[in-house]
Amino acid sequence: MKVAIISVQGDVEEHVLITKRAMDNIGIDGEAIATISKEEIKKSDAIILPGGESTTISKLIHQRGIDKEIKEAAMKGKPIMGTCAGSILLAKHGNEQIKKTKTKLLGLMDIWVKRNAFGRQIESFQVKLDIKNIGYFNAVFIRAPAIVKTGSNVDILSEFEGYVVAARQKNLLALSFHPELADDTRIHEYFLRMAE
Ligand code: GLN
Repeated sequence: MKVAIISVQGDVEEHVLITKRAMDNIGIDGEAIATISKEEIKKSDAIILPGGESTTISKLIHQRGIDKEIKEAAMKGKPIMGTCAGSILLAKHGNEQIKKTKTKLLGLMDIWVKRNAFGRQIESFQVKLDIKNIGYFNAVFIRAPAIVKTGSNVDILSEFEGYVVAARQKNLLALSFHPELADDTRIHEYFLRMAE
């Protein structure tokens, strides 16, 4: 199995490392690579959109034209996980702040996202979330977005302070927080199983 971690900006290396650990833990023979190559994305079985700055990530993936490869992969049913800023990019609908910055979304998931819903950088926090199919997970929130509304085809996996913070729509997984920063591979294992 080949997992492509989109490496335009953000916490790419952390995702590479934890994906490899998750593969080892569940006995998947595969590789996790940081890439922005259209060819590599095309050849991959699953894609991760890391956290970072959604405005910057959006600009760069559209500039390089890899938005098309990601959308094509999604249509083919390949699993795609967006974490933090990555979850914003997966969404079909953004709030005022997202519209004001003219951030182009990939528009794949029927979710409405609110940027910086939990406050600024200094208000970052960790919390034990109860996540469907996974259990309690120590989630790191850094200037995190929230999902304020979901379509009927979206499965809500976790909620916090009245917001949805983890959701799945078939092959697409959106998380408000940073699973790659916890010393816990279970979310990546869950994601890899979506690709099996
Ligand atoms: N606040 C950032 C954004 O809106 C996301 C932060 C993150 O990915 N840690 O792009």
